[in-house]
Amino acid sequence: MVSRVIPVEPADLVIIGGTGDLARRKILPALFRRFCAGQFGTESRVIGVSRTEMDGKEYRKLTAEAIAEFSEHEGCDMGRLDDFLEMLHYVTLDAKGTTGWKALAKLVKSERIKVFYFSVGPGLFGDLAERLHKYGMADEQCRIVVEKPFGRDLKSAKELNRVLAQHFDETQIYRIDHYLGKETVQNLMAVRFGNMLFEPLWNSQYVDHIQITVAEEVGVGTRGGYYDRSGAMRDMVQNHMMQLLCLIAMEPPAKFDPHAVRDEKLKVIRALDPVKPDNIVRGQYEGNGKRPGYRNQVENRDSTTETFVAIKAHVSNWRWAGTPFYLRTGKRLKERASEIAVVFKDAPHSIFDEDAGRHRNILTIKLQPNEGIELGVTIKEPGPGGMRLVDVPLDMTFAEVLGPDDADFPDAYERLIMDVIRGNQTLFMRGDEVEAAWAWTDPVIEVWRDSRELPIAYATGSSGPDDALMLMHRDGRRWREIKA
Ligand code: NAP
Repeated sequence: MVSRVIPVEPADLVIIGGTGDLARRKILPALFRRFCAGQFGTESRVIGVSRTEMDGKEYRKLTAEAIAEFSEHEGCDMGRLDDFLEMLHYVTLDAKGTTGWKALAKLVKSERIKVFYFSVGPGLFGDLAERLHKYGMADEQCRIVVEKPFGRDLKSAKELNRVLAQHFDETQIYRIDHYLGKETVQNLMAVRFGNMLFEPLWNSQYVDHIQITVAEEVGVGTRGGYYDRSGAMRDMVQNHMMQLLCLIAMEPPAKFDPHAVRDEKLKVIRALDPVKPDNIVRGQYEGNGKRPGYRNQVENRDSTTETFVAIKAHVSNWRWAGTPFYLRTGKRLKERASEIAVVFKDAPHSIFDEDAGRHRNILTIKLQPNEGIELGVTIKEPGPGGMRLVDVPLDMTFAEVLGPDDADFPDAYERLIMDVIRGNQTLFMRGDEVEAAWAWTDPVIEVWRDSRELPIAYATGSSGPDDALMLMHRDGRRWREIKA
């Protein structure tokens, strides 16, 4: 099977914060990959922007080094690097001042699609929006991409939405959540809505519960300053995990288009019950002799910031009443592994002896480190040993089913940036979705802040605090093992 690459229209892509970590690690390598794939051509231009004084030659050097260091994928012809570098320009510009704005306005072409990627802290979004407007770049062909964190609570998210809405229509604003750009996440929608098999069973009558795990093996590393003001609830749950929950729980949209999909996701967030205190566990990792504990990695040695959260959530609507969603995310866990598991109920009656065993169907959507979808089905154990049942996976791991060429699919940033140029907002969060998500997480964060209660300490390399296990055990259920 050969995947089709449909080239995008020529565009000017301006990376504001073009010398920063995100630009170097993700955005520039992603653009190079799409260039190699033939999707993004030499008629387009990439314009790096930041306060640092440098010329185009120096920016091309920075980009070449970033690609050498961070472009992980094979199959990219490094012989084409010079052609890609030819597309690069650089403007020294201050988001908060006047420096560079006229030069940028002169450089970008008014008649073509202009994408301004705000790869800077959210404190600059308002200044950028205002100046893009003032210097005549915020026309109909202009799109802006904004990175997480989109606010730190409902109030600040509303304020950001208000500021951006002063100069841009919602159709021009692309709030990026790279989890939505993952191939498997989109495949989840293909599996759900492209097959007759699953949708009739996709409800509380047949689904016992759903588990969503985003486990990281690393700690906060050098990001302690940012993380300590954020914590797992803001950094992971409010955005990535809620988006995954929405895609699992939403009703079939009438069409696969941005309005229909985002309307359905919003309904899910609004149907979430407030989280009761006994349905949430928060933890903080300890050191283990070899690796420092969280509090030794951040300035505040008494920090109460959570590095782990487990939640039992309820989507209160006809489809999901009585089927809990268990969410769990944390740092310094035993492995880096992210997955969604849809655990179906037992068959209503077993015709087999007790010792044949009882088994359940589980649909697993694996997001990290490898992407794929697996359906656990029960069959007879081969051989003459009588009727014993065994679970086998129907594996839809892309590399095996589609072959290595097709499994070498674009990473999330590649896909999402191309979607911005195409003008497709389906995989981006709408302003009202982001606000609804904060409205759900804010009360939990406020209770923690006011109580000053300490998170539960958990060991580096574990599955998180024991209390998180209890969240499931008391319901007669178990977390799936965290394994890559
Ligand atoms: P960073 O490494 O600190 O880079 C910030 C960039 O912004 C630099 O290029 C900086 O260059 C530029 N900048 C700062 N102030 C400016 C101003 N007044 N005018 C023009 N340019 C300015 O930050 P980052 O890690 O790339 O993160 C950027 C954004 O993406 C943040 O909102 C972050 O939360 C988000 N994000 C980052 C990651 C990641 O993996 N890094 C992941 C998800 C989201 P100068 O200092 O030269 O101006």
